[in-house]
Amino acid sequence: MSVSARHLDRVASLGCVLCRHLGQGATPAQVHHLREGQGMGQRADDFLTIPLCPEHHTGQSGIHGMGRKAFERAYLPEMDLLAMTIELLEKDRS
Ligand SMILES: [Zn+2]
Ligand SMILES: [Zn+2]
Repeated sequence: MSVSARHLDRVASLGCVLCRHLGQGATPAQVHHLREGQGMGQRADDFLTIPLCPEHHTGQSGIHGMGRKAFERAYLPEMDLLAMTIELLEKDRS
């Protein structure tokens, strides 16, 4: 398995980072790419990913459902979710 594939696996297995933040536990997650559609190289992109459950990803209250700006107003900046994800991965390793 490639380094980025293994990373995506670990990110997904953390469970939704927003559900966790909202105290809803670790719900099964999909991987969301932070700069989706901005033409970054896919490989670099794979390390800018956060785990989101289907609802918070593509659902009505999700980042694709409501759009990133509205999502960030409703919850918190995408970058904060990335920081939380990185922190969880660090804890996971130790
Ligand atoms: Zn969620
Ligand atoms: Zn996405």
